[in-house]
Amino acid sequence: MQSIAILGATGSIGTSALDVIARHPDTMRASVLAAGSNVSALVALCATHRPMHAVIGEADALPALRDGLDSAGLDTRAHAGGEALCELVASDACDTVVAAIVGAAGLDSTLAAARAGKRLLLANKESLVLAGELLTGAARAAGATIVPIDSEHNAIFQCLHGREAGADVRRVTLTASGGPFRGRDRAALAGVTPAEAVAHPKWSMGPKISVDSATLMNKGLELIEAHHLFDLPDARLEVLVHPQSLVHSLVEFVDGSVLAQLGLPDMRTALAVGLGWPRRLASGVGPLDLAAHGRLDFEPPDLDTFPCLALARGALRAGGTAPATLNAANEVAVSAFLQGRIGFLSIAALVEHALAAIAVEPAESLAALGEADTRARRHAEHAIATGAIR
Ligand code: NAD
Ligand code: MG
Repeated sequence: MQSIAILGATGSIGTSALDVIARHPDTMRASVLAAGSNVSALVALCATHRPMHAVIGEADALPALRDGLDSAGLDTRAHAGGEALCELVASDACDTVVAAIVGAAGLDSTLAAARAGKRLLLANKESLVLAGELLTGAARAAGATIVPIDSEHNAIFQCLHGREAGADVRRVTLTASGGPFRGRDRAALAGVTPAEAVAHPKWSMGPKISVDSATLMNKGLELIEAHHLFDLPDARLEVLVHPQSLVHSLVEFVDGSVLAQLGLPDMRTALAVGLGWPRRLASGVGPLDLAAHGRLDFEPPDLDTFPCLALARGALRAGGTAPATLNAANEVAVSAFLQGRIGFLSIAALVEHALAAIAVEPAESLAALGEADTRARRHAEHAIATGAIR
């Protein structure tokens, strides 16, 4: 019986993971469910999936979680806070961890899973952007298997049969839907609202990654993610806009052969790959009817309208703490945009401002990365508060 911890259980990836797990009751169960602050949503999931442990991120929400589980008549044990989560992830309460907390908040628990040698289904791309070398190094040292859950990286993982990209790989191409604003120019983006930005044409996702998809920062984060996961230099990583979101990425080999992975845009496929690898499991995702879709289109990304992609590539090239700065400034900017405090175009402006102001340091320790993250958050908050970026 595979015991699975789902970090970010109440989110978009978390609920998709629970859907796949529930299809295989004889071989797998959700043993740990963790969420940020929504106690009633977490209790409702516990009532359905009966895990051994439930963890709420906010430490002072422990009594409410305990009461909720009691009133529902559940014997799930209640825990709270990041430390409790890391302990559980490393314990024998689970052998598989779905890392699907959003943002840098997911780094500690993702790292704990890697260090404990778990099978790590890694959706939390921000932890790779922030601390990619430390995370992949910890996984290697502890013998943890990382299966990327980001659809593009999951596609590449499948094309490479779970290996890193060797000298036989000429290049890897990440596909991008182009987001809800594909085809618009900068002037048309100045006044777009959070509701428009999160209305993704192909994927149903949480609000942060939806905004990242609208700015193309998501694809930028994914370049950095691919660099760490597959040990690929930036020169061998490309981005191609593919609005149908059916081809999830491509790997070209030195002999001219190109392998791609296709499927409907539904994260349950990637999650089933992660849960079963190298076996194939039913995921609930339906068949791909290419005749009905009719065509697959491809076009280069518009880097002038969507500067975040170039900013991320620049941070990847700069190395050191630059990706941590990029990620932290972006998290602050996206949150401010969603709260209506800054406009859509200011997201890229804020990230650029932070990258220009904060010196790149070597990314030699978690402390150095944490410092870069804190500095970038402070810088971005200050730029918003003082009206330097609005
Ligand atoms: P979401 O907003 O729907 O869910 C986020 C989850 O994280 C929630 O369960 C929330 O309670 C939890 N959380 C937030 N802060 C927490 C904290 N401090 N402690 C514990 N839990 C916390 O987000 P999502 O769309 O599911 O995305 C999750 C991650 O997966 C992100 O890193 C995203 O980039 C990545 N991802 C998502 C998709 C997708 O299709 N949704 C695709 C690829 C990658
Ligand atoms: Mg993706």
